[in-house]
Amino acid sequence: MSQDLTPRILDLQQLSASLEPDEATRHSLLAQVEQYSDDFYRDITTRKAFHFNEQRGEGLLRHPVREEPRSLDQLIELVREQVDSSGLNPASGGHMGYIPGGGLYTSALGDYMADVANNYAGVFFAGPGAVRMENLLLRWMADLVGYGPEAAGNLASGGSVASLMAVVAARDAHQLKARDFERTVIYLSAQAHHCIHKAIRIAGLGEAIVRHLPLDERYRILPDALAQQVAADLEAGLRPWLVVATAGTTDTGAVDPLPAIAEVARRHNLWLHVDAAYGGFFALCDEGREVLKGLELSDSIVMDPHKTLFLPYGLGAVLVKDRRHLIASHHYTASYLQDAEKATDEISPADLSPELTKHFRGLRLWLPLLLHGLAPFRAALSEKILLCRLMHQRLGEMPGMEVGPPPQLSVAMFRHVPSTGDANAFNLRWMEEIHRDGDVFLSSTLLDGMVWIRIAIVAYRTHLATVERALEMLERTRQRVLQLG
Ligand SMILES: *Cc1c(COP(=O)(O)O)cnc(C)c1O
Repeated sequence: MSQDLTPRILDLQQLSASLEPDEATRHSLLAQVEQYSDDFYRDITTRKAFHFNEQRGEGLLRHPVREEPRSLDQLIELVREQVDSSGLNPASGGHMGYIPGGGLYTSALGDYMADVANNYAGVFFAGPGAVRMENLLLRWMADLVGYGPEAAGNLASGGSVASLMAVVAARDAHQLKARDFERTVIYLSAQAHHCIHKAIRIAGLGEAIVRHLPLDERYRILPDALAQQVAADLEAGLRPWLVVATAGTTDTGAVDPLPAIAEVARRHNLWLHVDAAYGGFFALCDEGREVLKGLELSDSIVMDPHKTLFLPYGLGAVLVKDRRHLIASHHYTASYLQDAEKATDEISPADLSPELTKHFRGLRLWLPLLLHGLAPFRAALSEKILLCRLMHQRLGEMPGMEVGPPPQLSVAMFRHVPSTGDANAFNLRWMEEIHRDGDVFLSSTLLDGMVWIRIAIVAYRTHLATVERALEMLERTRQRVLQLG
């Protein structure tokens, strides 16, 4: 005789009921989160960009996952203390290190809505509206860079994953097989982002030959050197395949000469990938559009809305000029998806990316773009370019200071040249002092054996007052290093 399962099932339903808070509980939870967000925004302009402390979230270890519930108040407090108060504050306008991010509030609201409804954005049949929204955003980006109707793309989690997808599409488009890898040649600037090297290795091409091209005095690829190297490689019986140009390098903000590189790529049938993770969206403003001419000549592009569209982390886009290549590398069919194959008005993210079930990332971009309109984005991007020019000027006027080349976009470099002693040691000491101060966060780099301190103005909360604050902090910390010797 079969046992009656009903009492046990109802019992379990009761035990898990707290997973579905009622309306009053939802309001109270949301009010607490709202309080957290209000507190966060209240002092966002004055709070340090970097917390130099020993406590690095270790308090979290004292609160392991357990059977019993905890209060939201207590958990929010843990986030404040253990997560928000150590290391970098990436939402701060004072974040001018690496490539800063943003954190648009309205994008957070988009995420909130996407998560509440848990819309499915993987396959058109299941989520036609969600998929259409994502495709519409990708089409908008394709128009921005000048790709035609055959283009397609994907909203990935970030620029690194987007780059991997581009490299895989390029590999398959050229029908590279394992036996070809050792004589396949890739052309890069030494300034290419390390995620390109990672993508090449993950795509199985770790054995390919990588040529680091010589650069001009502004750290841009010399197209003639590319042409000569490709000719030499063909002569040697090798297989030139991929050239990666960067539209806004991470280190120096340099934009490689895209039209001239594209010409070499066209002549020799190379796949041209443009890494515009940082720089791409500057095409929205006049100052940037001028510098970014030639984006449309590439075969694939990566651009990061979580950088230059100021979104919270979690969105990097890949675009491929000829969609067939992205599809060929990523499309798959499975018998349990047979219903889905009937609805084909729109191409599905699942056919263009390694993902099946995915976060509905479109809403976090669509909502702010349509809600605010494009004008404030264009203005903020122009503002960043002008702020960087201003800061580069002002730093150049400070005694003892050497500045790098005039910024093409919104990254610049400088260093102190001491009258005596080792300049690198001085600037590293200074960097340490800058991090200890934390008012504004900067990072350093090593170029041709020289230590440079970088400024990257990308956060939408960075304004004229922030730049003034940064300049004051720099003088304050430099004096400290000079006095301490
Ligand atoms: C940030 C960046 C990347 C990597 O993108 P993630 O979103 O950090 O994965 C690639 N290339 C350039 C030029 C970048 O600035």
